[in-house]
Amino acid sequence: MILLDRSVAIIGGGPAGLMAAEVLTHRVVHVDLYDAMPSVGRKFLRAGKGGLNLTHSEPYETFLTRYGARRTQIKPLLDAFGPEDLISWVHGLGIDTFVGTSGKLFPTEMKSTPLLRAWLQRLRSAGVNFHMRHVWRGWDDSGALCFETPQGMLTAHPDAVVLALGGGSWARLGSNGAWVPLLKQRGIPVAELRPSNCGFEVAWSEHFRTRFAGHPLKPVAVVFMDSEGREFRRQGEFIITKYGVEGSLIYSMSATLRDEISAKGVAVIQLDLAPDKGLQRLINELSRPRGSRSMAKHLRSRAGIEGVKAGLLRELVPPEDFFDPAIIGAAIKTLPLRLVAPRPLDEAISSAGGVAFEALDERLMVRSMPGVFCSGEMLDWEAPTGGYLLTACISSGHAAALGAMAWLKSGA
Ligand SMILES: Cc1cc2nc3c(=O)[nH]c(=O)nc-3n(C[C@H](O)[C@H](O)[C@H](O)COP(=O)(O)OP(=O)(O)OC[C@H]3O[C@@H](n4cnc5c(N)ncnc54)[C@H](O)[C@@H]3O)c2cc1C
Repeated sequence: MILLDRSVAIIGGGPAGLMAAEVLTHRVVHVDLYDAMPSVGRKFLRAGKGGLNLTHSEPYETFLTRYGARRTQIKPLLDAFGPEDLISWVHGLGIDTFVGTSGKLFPTEMKSTPLLRAWLQRLRSAGVNFHMRHVWRGWDDSGALCFETPQGMLTAHPDAVVLALGGGSWARLGSNGAWVPLLKQRGIPVAELRPSNCGFEVAWSEHFRTRFAGHPLKPVAVVFMDSEGREFRRQGEFIITKYGVEGSLIYSMSATLRDEISAKGVAVIQLDLAPDKGLQRLINELSRPRGSRSMAKHLRSRAGIEGVKAGLLRELVPPEDFFDPAIIGAAIKTLPLRLVAPRPLDEAISSAGGVAFEALDERLMVRSMPGVFCSGEMLDWEAPTGGYLLTACISSGHAAALGAMAWLKSGA
């Protein structure tokens, strides 16, 4: 039942836009949701292929730190709809969840489809009008929203708009960042979209690339000291790719590494290929007589280094040093690897940059365009993988919808 004869257009049917639609239908206004793609939630469905990490079970204070420099702006959104609310909401859709050993929370079925199906069913029964294949092209001179559709250009005159257009990665799933110039033309400050949770390029030799691309490196620790002297050390695993390195351990440091490369042209990380062994123990082991055994066998039996780890040593340690136990032991513990560029934005899991929070009020309304609200990954924040992305997207969709409601009720 529609109680308020007011209409809100939501543009973008990812998790942020869908949550905005849900909140607005509860507040009983007409809701039209537009999306450029033939169906909504395509990136959300893709996230399901990795199990759909919805959120994280760590203490709230720790959770907030994941938003780095944007913690202050994200906190009020999460205070209103945070990880606990998200979990209850997922359960309310009839989806069971579990917490993995790392503290990450997933749906028990480890996929998005059942959740998205239940969600869309709820939104349809609540009266949300879905308009697919509607590519938003900005505003016309009268302030109407313009959409390119299979039927030609259409316009809409809602009372309020929630933009939930996503970032700029995986364009084939819908979020292509084409909204950036549309907002900039209106004078809205937008920080350049940059890759976040991304791989990095390394100038591998042809031999190493051919032999080891696709091989996982585990366990391994990565240490990185940024230009301000802050040291990051994390242990886990990553993959050698034909162009460089990729994977969860690299993603977890990607913002810092990307910014270092942007400032200095290169980021040098130190790899610890034997994180469970001390340097002196390694040197002692490697100093034992090798006899007629090859260096490869000696490394395997004395230091547990083989396969791609041994390949990395061959790739990065000068041949003349390769047989020196002290040098090779030190290289196993601190092997410098030069990352020369982040991979392109389109390949990244998420985007940094977006609509500047300074352009928005506390309701996520664009100060210079009353009645226009922004949400999701199109806002200027970033976070590592671990469920922090979906949580903040959904939370900001929730906040933008409440903001739109409050604005409509204020008689605007
Ligand atoms: C491979 C992969 C795995 C991921 N796994 C996880 C995970 O496990 N956990 C996690 O927290 N995050 C994960 N993410 C990130 C997460 O999916 C995104 O952060 C989230 O989907 C962003 O939500 P959003 O609603 O802001 O934007 P999106 O989901 O990108 O949705 C934006 C929508 O806007 C539409 N749109 C864009 N431009 C226009 C236009 N001009 N006109 C009309 N419609 C338009 C698009 O078609 C799209 O439907 C993953 C991402 C990828 C790529």
